[in-house]
Amino acid sequence: MKFDRSGVNALMEITSRPELVFVRGQGSWLEDHNGKRYLDFIQGWAVNCLGHCPPDVVEAINEQSTLLINPSPAFYNVPSMELAKRLTGASCFDRVFFANSGAEANEGAIKLARKWGRLNRKGAFKIITFDHSFHGRTLATMSASGKPGWDKIFAPQVDGFPKAHLNDLESVRALIDDQTVAIMLEPVQGEAGVIPASPEFMQALRALADQHGLLLIVDEVQTGMGRTGKLFAYEHSGITPDIMTLGKGIGAGVPLAALCARESVSCFDHGDQGGTYNGNPLMTAAGVAVFDALTADGFMESVNVRSTQLSEGLLALSAKWGMKGERGQGLLRALILDRDDGAAIVETARDWAPEGMLLNAPRPNLLRFMPALNVTAEEVELMLERLDEVISQVRR
Ligand SMILES: *Cc1c(COP(=O)(O)O)cnc(C)c1O
Repeated sequence: MKFDRSGVNALMEITSRPELVFVRGQGSWLEDHNGKRYLDFIQGWAVNCLGHCPPDVVEAINEQSTLLINPSPAFYNVPSMELAKRLTGASCFDRVFFANSGAEANEGAIKLARKWGRLNRKGAFKIITFDHSFHGRTLATMSASGKPGWDKIFAPQVDGFPKAHLNDLESVRALIDDQTVAIMLEPVQGEAGVIPASPEFMQALRALADQHGLLLIVDEVQTGMGRTGKLFAYEHSGITPDIMTLGKGIGAGVPLAALCARESVSCFDHGDQGGTYNGNPLMTAAGVAVFDALTADGFMESVNVRSTQLSEGLLALSAKWGMKGERGQGLLRALILDRDDGAAIVETARDWAPEGMLLNAPRPNLLRFMPALNVTAEEVELMLERLDEVISQVRR
């Protein structure tokens, strides 16, 4: 297939993209317009938790698409209730609102916290978030995010998101005032370079929130749905958040996200929240298939076995090349380089022949790995071997 220049020119330019077009995918493999195959350790940015075109999800979408696609969110539909029951049954939350993207779920969390503050905390509305955090690309979620520079691009920002430092309790405490209603964080900061909040920090935040009557919101858009080796990352620290958002893996590639809340916090009145596509049966049917795959016997155990394999392999590479180690949780991991050649490694790996490999460098000195949760031992091994070859080429 020829590279379609006129098609490229018809798209709004929002990022620099390589000159290749992906035409199909299966499991951990993608194929481009020239028939070249790529081992995919990005998986749509941790989205395709079951790899490309997982048969169970394809079947669920096919079947649901012949039954009912969207009766309107003003009516009940079966898959949305099925998925809500599964999510509440497997978590500490009682109520679910489905959204179409992680940013939209986070917008919902922000609205819910502000509503709760109006009802219970004399109009308190400030939500403490963290430096380098990422919560999405809508105006409010960009304002909530701690990405350097994001406070300026689309100024003025949405007000009320003071920033603390991750794993620094005093920096959070110092920001609390009468107008504070909640603390919101990613259990592992993803875009920032895979930086986990320590279990002690999560526990201390819960205690601090309780002490001041604040809500604790976990943005599990990247860490949820098995990514960190448990179904939800908050489980690692044994805490009970008040609100959780899910996205990415929950739909295994289709636009689906969720806002989950405990009963006492679920205070939307009719008309406060909604959306044309929210909770439509086509996407939530995919979500049910994903949930059942992730919670099948032995699935999470295998995620943890692969995670150990990946972690040990990355550590070995780090030792061999004099790098600075690896970190992460489950199958969200990072290799910390000793120099700023992350972008060169990503490019060389992608252009490798005859088969390429897709990696991500969210920072110049860091590679991030977010394979499918059902990646095989052989695929992890192959990635590690090829990465070693790529590094030796880049550093020759
Ligand atoms: C990706 C991501 C989002 C945004 O999700 P979208 O579906 O792209 O809107 C929000 N929070 C975190 C932690 C993410 O990783």
